[in-house]
Amino acid sequence: MSIRVGIIGGGAAGLYTACQLKRQRSGKDISVTLIEKNNIPGKKLILTGHGRCNITNLKDASLLKKGFHEAENFIYPALREFGPADTMNFAENELGLKLKEEENNRIFPVCDSAVRVRDAILSYIADSTRVIKDTKVMEIRKGEDFEVITDNGTYNFDCVVLSCGGSSFTKTGSTGDSYKLAKKLGHTVIPVRGALAPVKADSESASLCKHLAGVSVSAMVSVFAEDKKTTSYEGELLFADFGLTGPAVMEISREIPADVKGTRAYLELDLVPSMNDEAFDSEFVKLIGEHADTKITTLLSRYVPASVAGEIASRCGVSDVYAQGFTKENRKKVCRLMKHLKIGIGQAPSIEAAYVTRGGVSLKEVDRKTMGSKVVPGLYIIGEALDIDGISGGYNLQACMSEAYMASKAILNN
Ligand SMILES: Cc1cc2nc3c(=O)[nH]c(=O)nc-3n(C[C@H](O)[C@H](O)[C@H](O)COP(=O)(O)OP(=O)(O)OC[C@H]3O[C@@H](n4cnc5c(N)ncnc54)[C@H](O)[C@@H]3O)c2cc1C
Repeated sequence: MSIRVGIIGGGAAGLYTACQLKRQRSGKDISVTLIEKNNIPGKKLILTGHGRCNITNLKDASLLKKGFHEAENFIYPALREFGPADTMNFAENELGLKLKEEENNRIFPVCDSAVRVRDAILSYIADSTRVIKDTKVMEIRKGEDFEVITDNGTYNFDCVVLSCGGSSFTKTGSTGDSYKLAKKLGHTVIPVRGALAPVKADSESASLCKHLAGVSVSAMVSVFAEDKKTTSYEGELLFADFGLTGPAVMEISREIPADVKGTRAYLELDLVPSMNDEAFDSEFVKLIGEHADTKITTLLSRYVPASVAGEIASRCGVSDVYAQGFTKENRKKVCRLMKHLKIGIGQAPSIEAAYVTRGGVSLKEVDRKTMGSKVVPGLYIIGEALDIDGISGGYNLQACMSEAYMASKAILNN
């Protein structure tokens, strides 16, 4: 008897499962059906990497796992069994996509086209997977087999892979259905919120961000809540009309508490992260002594872009002050802002604008070696449906691939 496998959701995780079932089946009699509510699978996949698809990150699994925060131990076996090098081999030798490595071990297709990646996957699975489009799964029931109820009829399967994604970028189809379907089947869902998201400034900091919109700086960004620093990340950030974005801000956004007001949460930017407060102050004292006829703004421009230097000087009321007339009190103010620039947070990061969803099906209820549900035998849960979010740089797509590999292996060995 053929094993009837139903894949619910045709995003990266669902499509990769179809690929893995095809490549691992080795003569086994299975029929694979993928049900997607959009008119074409992979609508989020084609947006990835700014349309270029950062498909994986070529780090060893022991390093890669650290990019998955609290889920690092859960995902480690999957990353070890089917890691970045395996993904690259598969993409190059089976999907026919040539790959290249960019900074920080990020891997992209040479064609720089996420659409070509999605289309290569669809061609690869065309002879092994029945793709049912424009069909939304409303409920999954478990009796003798799985009954998958859609807005377009009912389908029966021996096992089901739940891969309906998270709750962000809803226009791509990821509208949180994974969580509703899993809850109905008896799973616990950890409350979801945005991760890898831009941050909206509060009304006090909005004008600073607006004046500097489009300017990028390298800084240490820290999150403060209840007057305590909770996390820091060093990297590039970008001022924007609405607040802050760019890699460093996106990375720490998952740590911003949902109750921004109640916890008095804010961000702090250290614009000279290479030196501590004392070292920066003494270096600045030296600079002032050596350049008496130079404006303070010009001296600050040695550390930050001129527009940021101008904004800092203006906030300290020293825009037109030269080094020779610079008081100790003003120097303290300037150094303080350079090292501890406070940006108030207007609201918790919007889940809609987040690149990934934090939260999801509780990992306690899923077997990390098979991705099988411990609540409903025969159900497998992968991708953003799970309470896993990785940092940027190809981590999240690699997680989808590694999990798809584990689920497919378990399905075929059962
Ligand atoms: C703009 C952007 C850029 C990104 N860039 C990268 C990158 O370069 N590298 C990287 O590693 N990660 C990147 N990510 C993250 C990555 O895209 C996601 O982590 C990944 O796509 C999650 O895959 P998934 O299959 O779990 O969910 P999704 O891709 O969201 O797929 C879920 C699918 O299920 C379908 N679906 C939902 N509900 C139902 C239902 N009831 N019935 C049937 N179908 C349903 C949806 O239509 C969708 O097609 C990016 C994310 C965004 C938003």
